[in-house]
Amino acid sequence: MKGSLEPILLTPLNLSQRPQKVRMDLEEGAAIVVTDAPNVRWLTGFTGTNGIVYLDHEQIVLITDRRYQDQGPEEVAEADSPTDVTIAQDPVKIISEICGTRTLIVDANAVTWGEKQRLAQAIRGEVTASKSPFQGVRAQKDTGEIQRIAQAARIADQALESVIPLLGQQLSEIDIAMHLDHKIRMCGASGSAYETIVASGKNSSFPHARPSGKIIEKGDIVVIDVGAVVDGYRSDMTRTFVIGGPTQEEEKYLGTVLAAQEEAISKLKPGVACKEIDKICRDRIEDEGWGESFIHGTGHGVGLEIHESPQISSRSEDNLLSGMIITIEPGIYFKGQCGVRWEDLFVITDDGAKRLSRSEKVPQV
Ligand code: ZN
Ligand code: ZN
Repeated sequence: MKGSLEPILLTPLNLSQRPQKVRMDLEEGAAIVVTDAPNVRWLTGFTGTNGIVYLDHEQIVLITDRRYQDQGPEEVAEADSPTDVTIAQDPVKIISEICGTRTLIVDANAVTWGEKQRLAQAIRGEVTASKSPFQGVRAQKDTGEIQRIAQAARIADQALESVIPLLGQQLSEIDIAMHLDHKIRMCGASGSAYETIVASGKNSSFPHARPSGKIIEKGDIVVIDVGAVVDGYRSDMTRTFVIGGPTQEEEKYLGTVLAAQEEAISKLKPGVACKEIDKICRDRIEDEGWGESFIHGTGHGVGLEIHESPQISSRSEDNLLSGMIITIEPGIYFKGQCGVRWEDLFVITDDGAKRLSRSEKVPQV
């Protein structure tokens, strides 16, 4: 198909060891209930919209409804997951039957108060909450996961390359965003990793601007933040352009943010504290007097979700580990004027980091 990438044969994901990884942190006599789609998918391979996973030291059960009676077992088998699939109208009843007197752990960030109350009434043991219990085990990706994210990054590179010639053609932000989203699908991704950001002129001063009907004009700074999804796994990248080329002042913004990003990138390796990476980046921007304009963290983990562990910010308690996939994305934003951001995606290797987003950083268009 014209415009598509050569398809890469993705190694099938092997989820056979994931329940065991969770059990390593699970106390004897405890069970965990997983209700949110990314964690259900990570643990079992099931991609449906309605699935609850029950896991204790002996068993792992996916409870879903009849719409998924074929898809559920198929996906679980394809992913080599040891999960049993149960079709039931009332998952709480099933959980109360298999849970016995175990303590049930739920994800405080995923379960509603009402669901927690229902579980507490139905089971004999206690219900306790843990905050994002899988964030640690999910942070280090395996080969199959890294391959998918790398492919998503490649697709975003390709999509971005295809819109650069359009930037000087009096099109709107929405036009460019739609073109990016279309190209991402054409290249074999299942969709965009998040709502694509195309922010021009003053709009670029909002880090999470929504594409508008504003025409991209000569002299505008344009921030494009784009990612793709391959087999559930996401990519994330930002490039900044200036239509007609940057002024001296804009060149200084672009150069400073780039220097901050490069300094942080040069320090990426296992064992380094994420807050240290944030500090390196922030110090460089503060040195220019723009510390107040760097209004977000330096980066974040990426995987089945666009924001995952680790957090790369001044308050982060995380350390980098090999297999983590992270962004480094310093930016500065001047209200009513403009913003500049460079964002790249990396996999932490045994002795450093490998860049997955490859698009060039040539701001002049
Ligand atoms: Zn981004
Ligand atoms: Zn990001």
